[in-house]
Amino acid sequence: MSNSPSRVNLLDFDPAALEAFFVNMGEKPFRARQVLPWLHQRFCDDIGQMSDLSKAAREKLAAVAEIKPPRVLRDATANDGARKWLFAVENDTGAENAVEAVYLPEDDRGTLCISTQAGCMMDCAFCSTGRQGFNRNLSTGEIVGQLWVANRTLLAEGMNAPWIEAGRPPITNVVLMGMGEPLANFKNVVAALQLFLSDHAYGLSRRRVTLSTSGVTPMIDALRDACPVALAVSLHAPDDTLRDRLMPINRRHPLPELMAACRRYLDQAPRDFITFEYLLLADVNDAPAQAAALIELVRDVPCKFNLIPFNSFPDAPYQAPMRNRVLAFQRVLMDAGIITTIRKARGEDIDAACGQLAGQVHNRVRYRMSDVPRRAERYDDAREVAALSAPGERRRSSFQAKHPVA
Ligand code: SAH
Ligand code: SF4
Repeated sequence: MSNSPSRVNLLDFDPAALEAFFVNMGEKPFRARQVLPWLHQRFCDDIGQMSDLSKAAREKLAAVAEIKPPRVLRDATANDGARKWLFAVENDTGAENAVEAVYLPEDDRGTLCISTQAGCMMDCAFCSTGRQGFNRNLSTGEIVGQLWVANRTLLAEGMNAPWIEAGRPPITNVVLMGMGEPLANFKNVVAALQLFLSDHAYGLSRRRVTLSTSGVTPMIDALRDACPVALAVSLHAPDDTLRDRLMPINRRHPLPELMAACRRYLDQAPRDFITFEYLLLADVNDAPAQAAALIELVRDVPCKFNLIPFNSFPDAPYQAPMRNRVLAFQRVLMDAGIITTIRKARGEDIDAACGQLAGQVHNRVRYRMSDVPRRAERYDDAREVAALSAPGERRRSSFQAKHPVA
């Protein structure tokens, strides 16, 4: 594997972009369909091994391209089988960042929870990732690379499961629930989704790929139009007053707007419901009356609820509710006919549970969501969302001024 910075990383291309790349090189577009399975089904890291390409074609390709998965810094397995990989996210500034992916094995599936950003700008009050601040968006290759490394490692270790014998990769389900807000890194996330779904790459069905968002509503519409996969929405409060406090994005896109976007999403969604994630924080949002208010809120949105008891991290400002409060909350929703599950915390002994992913992030934002004015002072949000979705480059100059690279 070469590290030449002047070569493109083949893991960065979605199927259409890979075709365009070959055409640009004076090759036939079908080369993409030939190369994709080498990359994403055989997890090949050496262009020289692509034996159905002529020697001349391999040499021509290797002169301009390489296969560069993210580098693994740490690989830890929890007592319950959850496994966490820490990946280096290299930076032009020399600052060492790292993001995490978590593998959750089950009898009938293998799920990988992947990250989409180094840090997060959304600043949710209860989240360890948000507390780190934001460094930059992950590239498509860095997002897909987490799945590539997990599949390749598990295969190399000889993992056996019925679906592997049937020719499927070890990871059967992907959830974009790791570090970062996927819809704030829209372009790279959609390119990664195209690879997850492509029959020439990972071949996952739309139902087996779930994107979780804090509620960037214009981008929920954009996802519906670009690449609808199963959608999970982090709700966490039944009213705007509390949600404004817990999740600053709500000041920009309040609950009525979020519910309307969920309804529109269902027109194209692969499932006929939205999953609402509801984090339970003791004495903040866990009262039965708040569960009753949720029923009203989601009245017009076919949905299921997934309750997540708060997972703690150092200096966390909240506590998890007692088990009986969680069960009582679930009962109110179930009695209203809403299917409601309680998420099991997994991988707690290696800090791999929801909201515990901290990685290693050197904050370089001046702008965070909590600086957003309250709704009374709202201003044009299209421009703001565009700014939120912009890659780290925009902020480079001020960062470089503070951290000059030798
Ligand atoms: N940014 C996206 C996806 C990543 S977070 C989002 O917010 O939806 C994945 C889930 O973990 C979200 O529902 C998030 O609210 C939840 N979460 C964050 N901090 C948590 C914590 N400390 N304990 C339990 N869940 C947490
Ligand atoms: Fe970002 Fe999601 Fe954490 Fe909020 S909960 S700070 S959106 S990763």
